[in-house]
Amino acid sequence: MPARTPAPAPVFIAGRLWLDFVNTADARLGQRVDLLATFSAFVDWLAAAQVIDAERAATLRRRAVEQPSGAAAALVEAQRIRTLLRQLAEQGRDARGAVQRAHVVEEINRVLGRSVGTRRVDAMPDGGYVRSFVPVGDAFGGLVIPVVESAVDSLVRGELGKIRGCADRRCPRHFADDTKSGTRRWCDMKTCGNRAKAKRHRQKAVP
Ligand SMILES: [Zn+2]
Repeated sequence: MPARTPAPAPVFIAGRLWLDFVNTADARLGQRVDLLATFSAFVDWLAAAQVIDAERAATLRRRAVEQPSGAAAALVEAQRIRTLLRQLAEQGRDARGAVQRAHVVEEINRVLGRSVGTRRVDAMPDGGYVRSFVPVGDAFGGLVIPVVESAVDSLVRGELGKIRGCADRRCPRHFADDTKSGTRRWCDMKTCGNRAKAKRHRQKAVP
């Protein structure tokens, strides 16, 4: 069996779970990377996002060994939903996006309609709370429900207008601009924002 190549560490910078999910189709140093390349990486991401706990992650990994085709299908479905949600992030607010938006909403309803399980709220060690969804039946079912529900929250709150793509055109990430002034430009000040700052600095230094 080939050694498992660890996926790059996920980043949670978007301010919304569904946008962090969209951002798993990422780029690092100009290279495209997919943080959902394998089912195992998908489980890693769900655990890092606190959508599932360690126990459920371990169960999913075990089931994936027992039922590889079920795990593969769940991964394909997650990637499909990610593509849909990216369309919502990119074309969410303008008038031209209306047809696209209607299509995404229809698909979201299809996903929500298939989900059978229990919705819960759990306390976190840090004092915060997290919403979770415990599916009934199929072990691989409903994994993306919390992600999809986060997109529904953004739709219901009418906040699609706050969603922006990173100002670095090579960067595929999206985020919600929660600044009062509406001036957030970068996905992350540690990477893209910092590069832009360094570039400005260099340009200034040229005599
Ligand atoms: Zn960026």
